[in-house]
Formats: sequence, C-alpha cells, structure tokens
Amino acid sequence: MASYFDEHDCEPLADGEQPNHMLHMARLLLDSGLAAEWNIEYEEAFGGERKVPPASKKFVEELPRIIISPTEAALEKKCPVCLGLLDEEDEAIVLPKCSHKFHSSCILPWLQRVNNCPMCRTEFPTDDPDYENYKKHKARAKQREFEIDTLHDAMFG
Ligand SMILES: [Zn+2]
Ligand SMILES: [Zn+2]
Repeated sequence: MASYFDEHDCEPLADGEQPNHMLHMARLLLDSGLAAEWNIEYEEAFGGERKVPPASKKFVEELPRIIISPTEAALEKKCPVCLGLLDEEDEAIVLPKCSHKFHSSCILPWLQRVNNCPMCRTEFPTDDPDYENYKKHKARAKQREFEIDTLHDAMFG
C-alpha cells in the first residue's frame, strides 16, 4: 500500500490504527483543496501548457447581483479580493455553493480567468469540453478507488 500513501501524500497509519475510508472519501469530496489538486494535475497532464479554464460564460452571466444594504454595510464585511469594505450600495455577488461574497467588479474579472472561488477554490462549471471531460474522468477514478477500498474492507475488515 506504499504507493497509495505516496499518491495521496498522507501519513501511513500508526500501529493498531484503522483506516477510515468513509472519512477519507468524505474528505476527498469535501476538502476544498480537491479542486486545487485537480487543477494542478490538469495543468501537469498537458505539460503545463494548458491552464485551468475560466468559469462558464453562462454561469457568470447568471450569477445574481445584489446591492449591499445599509444593514449589511453596518457589519463592515470586507471583500476578500480587494480587502475593501462591502459598502452600502456596492454591487456584490455571492457565489453559489460556498457563499463567499465579493464586489461584482472584483469577482467578475477573476471568474473570467479561472473557474474557482479565490477564497476556498470551490469549482464552478466551465465552457471547456476537455476540462469537463477531465473532471468527469477524475471523479470516476476517485469513485473506483473508493469502491476498491470498500470492497477490501468488506473482505478483510
Ligand atoms: Zn472588492
Ligand atoms: Zn468560496
């Protein structure tokens, strides 16, 4: 199992410690680092020549724009991109899935370059068929790995 640990860059279990595959899978799926890991793998798969594509145009166009209300402005939340206040009357966008909030003028140019949230790397759809296929392929590979682990546990656990 050495290669398994190498591949996943995690510590081998200590004596008597049992692997928790459900937890491992949950971590793989939920860990916001997963998207970043995919992105690095994706770039490497194409010899570093391809960059992660921007978020889908339709996705970006359909993001709901909101206007910061006086009540919200009073909370003095900052936009993580420019570190400026999300001030009354500012136009802002709350990203789906992760709910991070930015000025529209800060997050829109970002999403025109990459397909993920600058705060947590949550991934959004792209218009790039190669990238979408690559993601599907990776998701299947992770699923298979999980099934093999589960089977292994059922047989030997
Ligand atoms: Zn901003
Ligand atoms: Zn986020």
